[in-house]
Amino acid sequence: MNRPLGVYFHIPFCRSKCAYCDFCSTAQWDDGMMDAYLAALIRQMDDFFIPGGKYPVDTVYLGGGTPSVFGGKRIARLLSALEKRASLTRSAEITVEVNPESADKALFRVLKKAGVNRISMGVQSSDDGQLRAIGRIHDFARAKEAAALCRDYCTDNLSLDLIYGLPGQDMESWLKSVDDICALEPKHISCYALKLEEGTPMYRADPPRADDDLQADMYLACIDRLAQRGYEQYEISNFALPGYRSRHNQKYWDLSEYLGFGCAAHSFYNGKRFSFVADLKEYLSGMEGKNPIVEESDELSYGNRVGEFVMLALRTTDGIDESAFHRRFGRDFEPFAKRLAPYAASGHAVCEGGRWRLTPKGFLVSNVIIGDVLEACDPQEGGMG
Ligand code: SF4
Repeated sequence: MNRPLGVYFHIPFCRSKCAYCDFCSTAQWDDGMMDAYLAALIRQMDDFFIPGGKYPVDTVYLGGGTPSVFGGKRIARLLSALEKRASLTRSAEITVEVNPESADKALFRVLKKAGVNRISMGVQSSDDGQLRAIGRIHDFARAKEAAALCRDYCTDNLSLDLIYGLPGQDMESWLKSVDDICALEPKHISCYALKLEEGTPMYRADPPRADDDLQADMYLACIDRLAQRGYEQYEISNFALPGYRSRHNQKYWDLSEYLGFGCAAHSFYNGKRFSFVADLKEYLSGMEGKNPIVEESDELSYGNRVGEFVMLALRTTDGIDESAFHRRFGRDFEPFAKRLAPYAASGHAVCEGGRWRLTPKGFLVSNVIIGDVLEACDPQEGGMG
């Protein structure tokens, strides 16, 4: 019996492009294009799932883009096509990302009927001026309404996203956003720092906003505020009430297998990482010839797998248990522990009962710490897998 797999569908359509966004998504679409995309996703599943194979799947995630723009009926058809080709476990977590402006009663009803049991919604801020400044097309009142509809007509397993470091945002208004979002009683909250990605309108405009020090203070203050409200931090950017961690995202962090379908979708399967072309038109024309364009395909060496595991696990508050690491990889954690020891002395990491993790202060500089720790790893190294 295969270990259950995670399945991701990338839905690259949005009502309009936000000023900071460099995700693979377009606001230039019509129904014909969406229907062609749905057909391509189903064809791609046919290429992977062997008829009658019934591969077990225990998490499904529709992200984007804005899957709610794709529409409830297409999402239901996609999930039904998946169910015919794979075996969804009884307790499978099925998440759909929505945005407030495209989430209504009818959508939530259809999603519930299709088996969706988790909704992730991009709210980003409770301040309408800040939302406008980043090109969001909803206001906070609309987000509140959508959260209530989600609870009434689909599920109360709701995750909400926030961004800190926005133009016009100070510490007070950031914590107000955190409080306002907690008042909507989500089970899960993700908080991301605003990053200006090259090529986006916001990158070119370079508006005044929080500097690195203020962003760091905002991050630490939000961890405290969410802890007071009962949200446990379990990854650098993710917080959940007990029992509501994202099971799908945990697959990314513990090197479990997942398959991604659609343009720009990434997969880790059979020891290989690969992704499909991050361009909707190229993806569609590739799929017309039944030849999806694979952008990257790497077989992870043993050394790479160890390195990736260390890198991803140190982003989580569970961190790395030395004995479990030894059992999984057949080697000692000691060289990594030696590199972590100075960070423990400076309060950036801790080791409790043989389990290493970064502290909130360490998460702030996680790239530097993880880069340093990975020096103990030889990507060319062979060994047990
Ligand atoms: S809704 Fe999300 S994916 Fe779409 S443009 Fe905005 S940030 Fe990007």
